[in-house]
Amino acid sequence: MQDESKMTPWDMFNMEVPDDHMPARGVHPRAAKAIVNSEAWTDARPEMNLSSFVTTFMEPEEMELAREHILKNHIDHDMYPQLFAMERRMVKWLHTLWNGPADVEPYGAATVGSSEACMLAGLAHKWNWRQARERAGKDATRPNMVTGGNVQIVWKKFLRYFDVEPRIVPLKPGNYRLTAEHLDEYVDENTICVVAIAGQTFTGEDDDIQEIHDWLDAYEKRTGISIPMHIDGASGGFVNPFCYPDYEWDFRLPRVQSINASGHKFGLVPPGLGWVVFRERRIFNEDLIFYVNYLGGEMPTATLNFSRNAVQIALQYYGFIRLGFEGYQRIMTKTVENSQYLRDLLVDSGYFTIMNETQRIPVVALTLKDGFTNFSEFDVSAKVREKGWVLSAYTMPPAAEEVRSLRIVVRPHLNRNVLKGLARDIVDCCKWLEAHGGNATPPALHGHKTTPSKC
Ligand SMILES: *Cc1c(COP(=O)(O)O)cnc(C)c1O
Repeated sequence: MQDESKMTPWDMFNMEVPDDHMPARGVHPRAAKAIVNSEAWTDARPEMNLSSFVTTFMEPEEMELAREHILKNHIDHDMYPQLFAMERRMVKWLHTLWNGPADVEPYGAATVGSSEACMLAGLAHKWNWRQARERAGKDATRPNMVTGGNVQIVWKKFLRYFDVEPRIVPLKPGNYRLTAEHLDEYVDENTICVVAIAGQTFTGEDDDIQEIHDWLDAYEKRTGISIPMHIDGASGGFVNPFCYPDYEWDFRLPRVQSINASGHKFGLVPPGLGWVVFRERRIFNEDLIFYVNYLGGEMPTATLNFSRNAVQIALQYYGFIRLGFEGYQRIMTKTVENSQYLRDLLVDSGYFTIMNETQRIPVVALTLKDGFTNFSEFDVSAKVREKGWVLSAYTMPPAAEEVRSLRIVVRPHLNRNVLKGLARDIVDCCKWLEAHGGNATPPALHGHKTTPSKC
């Protein structure tokens, strides 16, 4: 056993960390910190991880706020009523931002991310559907949900974990969005909701929300069956209101009953924070709310998670106050322009075609031009990794699996000089690969594993 008081930092790096059991005794804090950090050296730099949508910049004041609130468990509403009041107020702000009706009581919650938010919305629609069916004396045992093949993995989790039949409309090469086409083959009286995406992970496009909405109106006229819509605005929820204020993707469409967004994506908060907001209180089925008194005081709880850190809530509140509508608008507009700048540089290189003509969020989705046969998007992604950049390469979901894509999420911390450098690095890699050939094997087709995982 070494005498810690005589250990130098050089010795501390060399502490043995066992693989199969936790260390029997502790070490000096400096040693513990050195070990944690050194073992993570080879991980990506978050700032250069452009496969992710998640925020990687914080102001020093946010670091300070994080330190001040990190020991608070947000679920202890009795102990931290003001943080809870901030959450309530931000739900109202989001309801207004997403053009919810003024004369209703909005309802919503802060969650760990959009995944938890999507599951809560899906459950509310499942409960509402079941109660309506039971009230009408109809079979309520076979719920289904309709969405596009471009959905993020959370919806496939929701469907499996909560026993709802998936009705997933396949994509096709050249069209990666859910539209009203073929909906008649998928929607029926057992459909709990149709989920449409604002800012999808693959190409950054929106599903054809208006067209789907109008189709569901016509379907109701024809059949008497009214089906609600949920909008997955994980990314788009914090882009559309600022960049495209006249575009109706939100509660302005009466059928839209719930919307989720990721505070930790374009909400500009570090992970993990999501939001779910319902058009009005009654959409969030009362049966999903529990009243508990373990923490002192009777308290309603209606999230999948119980304990969670309060830091992200304080930081979202800081962000809204610090930037205001005008600040988010400026940042999101600039970021979308920057993504177009990067896209143009890459298209002008002659190597790529863009995949997302109708892109709304700042994502560049490219595919290599047909002429390049001795390397793939997977090789480009692997090669630029040598420079430290992380870009996703993947095959599209069914039935567009033969299409491969290279995706770059342009986040607000990237300025034009950085993007120019990134474009140069990508083009240099393409030149090298064109001369030497690539050998990265794309993942097998049909695998759910090939969907971008870090979003
Ligand atoms: C990121 C994302 C999710 C999952 O959100 P998390 O915040 O990572 O849990 C769901 N849907 C879409 C469209 C996304 O982009």
